[in-house]
Amino acid sequence: MAHTTFTPEGHKTESFRLLSGHKIPAVGLGTWQSGSQASHAVFTALVEGGYRHIDTAWEYGDQNEVGQGMKRAIHAGIERRDLFVTSKLWCTELSPERVRPALLNTLQELQSDYLDLFLIHWPFRLREGASRPPKAGDVLEFDMEGVWREMEKLVKDNLVRSIGVCNFTITKLNKLLGFAELIPSVCQMEMHPGWRNDKMLQLCRMNGIHVTAYSPLGSQEGGRDLIHDQTVERIAKKLNKTPGQVLVKWGLQRGTSVIPKSSNPERIKENIKVFDWVIPDQDFEALSSISDQKRVMDGEDMFVDKSEGPFRSVADLWDHED
Ligand code: NDP
Repeated sequence: MAHTTFTPEGHKTESFRLLSGHKIPAVGLGTWQSGSQASHAVFTALVEGGYRHIDTAWEYGDQNEVGQGMKRAIHAGIERRDLFVTSKLWCTELSPERVRPALLNTLQELQSDYLDLFLIHWPFRLREGASRPPKAGDVLEFDMEGVWREMEKLVKDNLVRSIGVCNFTITKLNKLLGFAELIPSVCQMEMHPGWRNDKMLQLCRMNGIHVTAYSPLGSQEGGRDLIHDQTVERIAKKLNKTPGQVLVKWGLQRGTSVIPKSSNPERIKENIKVFDWVIPDQDFEALSSISDQKRVMDGEDMFVDKSEGPFRSVADLWDHED
């Protein structure tokens, strides 16, 4: 259930309570492919948009810029303790002894003493210097239990407040739940009306795991153009909202937090104006019935090696569950 609060500047906002006891703001700013604009985007989001949640990752290559944007916002009067900052452990660091050094490097890049949320980025370990697509020997065995134990220690040592995973399947999440001392607080997954991913949402709900929807607008160039989808456009027009706002709101009404990316100041501010209206049931159902269901982020270019394996197809990556 979402809780409504107000930022000191009077922006209405919502958050969800995590298993860790901490709260995650319902809308966060995505920063993948923000590049050199990340600093300005983060500053605009925090100071002008009323965001308190930033999603980044070492792999995005923009953590220094994200850190600069946060620092400027803190100078402008925003308190670090009111921010919720997420980063992710990249695939080359998926072995127990590499977890803590990777986190410390991320903290340094972000100029922060702690992270609010640290996620396993993808459940596949890559050799350092792996090519895209991978060559033989690039995709290595992943010691999920050993890595998770190290993630748990980061929480015990107050370096990280909550931990979680991304891009997991039912099979992988059940495996993790079999040995986890700390159950993941968050599962971050691709979710939008073109890829509802209902089965994973259901499993997370049953276990009290909060879900964050990534690529909520259908992602970037080469993704799914939901902004111009007929159903989305029709409902946006009817509600006098933009397609972006309708897509963000759809995710919120499913009980997920949502992390739209934008580096455009107007769209950053637009995407979070979603707290004082609702999508009526009938329209919500129409958005939830779009028939062409397909992932954008299928992981093929990063992890599939058709001839050598260990994953020879996209279906292999997703444990043949789709
Ligand atoms: P989104 O679905 O958020 O879409 C971003 C694209 O939509 C950009 O091209 C952006 O352009 C454009 N856009 C933003 N707002 C609007 C609007 N109101 N109207 C029209 N167009 C708009 O894509 P992402 O794939 O970036 O996903 C969001 C975030 O999720 C990422 O940035 C990242 O933080 C996270 N993520 C996590 C993954 C994981 O493996 N855990 C994988 C992928 C994403 P512009 O900037 O010009 O506004």
